[in-house]
Amino acid sequence: MKFLEIYKKSDKPVISFEIFPPKTANGIEKLKTVLLELSTLSPDFISVTYGAMGTTRDKTIDISNYIKNQLKIETACHLTCVGAGRKEIDLFLTKIMTHGITNIVALRGDPPAGEKNFIPPDDGYTYANELVHHIRGFEKRNTKFNINFGIAIAGYPEKHLEAPNLETDLENLKRKVDAGADIIITQLFFDNNHYFEFVRKVRNIGIDIPIIPGLMPILSAKQILKITTMCGTNFPDNLRNKLENSADNDAYAEELGIKQCIKQVKDLLENGAPGIHFYVLNKSAHIKRILNSIN
Ligand code: FAD
Repeated sequence: MKFLEIYKKSDKPVISFEIFPPKTANGIEKLKTVLLELSTLSPDFISVTYGAMGTTRDKTIDISNYIKNQLKIETACHLTCVGAGRKEIDLFLTKIMTHGITNIVALRGDPPAGEKNFIPPDDGYTYANELVHHIRGFEKRNTKFNINFGIAIAGYPEKHLEAPNLETDLENLKRKVDAGADIIITQLFFDNNHYFEFVRKVRNIGIDIPIIPGLMPILSAKQILKITTMCGTNFPDNLRNKLENSADNDAYAEELGIKQCIKQVKDLLENGAPGIHFYVLNKSAHIKRILNSIN
């Protein structure tokens, strides 16, 4: 089922998970166990990220294929503009099609570590709106396949790191929607006011597609501080203070993360969010507790 069908058909909030491809064969086996545990929570879909420099391209497809065709759970492959020209993008689209995968999270990707500017690959793209446009063009160029992908794009309630301000970032978000995106999944945030304000501003510029809040429950102090710094998400002082008092205590951080996430989820769903996309970091126990507690 494609993204829009999932969100239109569901009479309850849509629950989705995002996982990343592990580097080793052993890691992939472990992930399969986690996926089995996650599958007991009946997610509406599980998306699989696409590694920096396109390094995990094949693993992204293989794991999505496993989710879709072994676990029989709807899936989405992430695809970025990094390291792939138009031919490689078409090859990727053809491959996922052969596995029956119909959902894509279309992204630009980040510049390599240490570099400030994104340099497009030869014959490739600089921005995600061009990638979305390419995917819609692929459908038109290959009418014999009769394919129509569900396309999700990224949205940034606290603006993308490189954008000069939120208004400019929203204009660029609109380019992706106009190019043919179906839904927006947000960057992680810890203050729901950022999401509600973002939704209001996005609607004001005429975008009416679903906006799915992305939440990352905290699992460790070090990890969450690194991730929020990297992606430009504000980490509230009250959480920071609590974590700094017990910097190496992951069990404490996880408990705090579960409580914080339950609070956010309840407020988001009570105030109209169409579902929650959980960045689960390839773990399941914390997500189980969060979902059980919100029933
Ligand atoms: P864009 O929408 O292209 O925006 C990038 C920057 O350029 C923004 O500042 C924007 O304002 C500006 N901009 C956009 N279009 C234009 C234009 N036409 N002209 C001028 N300026 C423009 N990264 C991965 O490597 N793999 C993943 O699997 C992955 N999954 C993600 C999933 C989600 C839900 C999110 C929120 C992020 C994910 N990322 C992933 C991170 C993402 O690749 C980075 O945040 C990246 O820096 C921007 O990607 P984007 O698609 O938002 O880019």
